[in-house]
Amino acid sequence: MEFKRSNGNLLSGPESWIRENLALCPFCKRAPEWETATEFTVGAKRYYFRCPLCLAVLSVLASEAIPVPGSVGAVANPLTFLVRIESTGKRGELTHFQGTAHSLTELRVWARGTL
Ligand SMILES: [Zn+2]
Repeated sequence: MEFKRSNGNLLSGPESWIRENLALCPFCKRAPEWETATEFTVGAKRYYFRCPLCLAVLSVLASEAIPVPGSVGAVANPLTFLVRIESTGKRGELTHFQGTAHSLTELRVWARGTL
């Protein structure tokens, strides 16, 4: 999977979505310049976000994050919006979380230092 960041000030839809909804990385607690990738799986498109600081990878269903193609990221309901943890990066002790889904609220709590 190829991760990238847009150059300059113009953020892509997924970049603006993650900035709006998850400013801090749940695993290293810092504010990364998230890198993004897009993958098509069976019947679904997902956006992937990688933290360049700790290499954690999260993913969301594209149609849930950005319902209208071409629009910028909408603010999600943090209680019900689910984010899948693809990799816990350098936090090797947390690999049991890989493949599990968590609400934005939960990830924000982690980012404030409980995990
Ligand atoms: Zn991180």
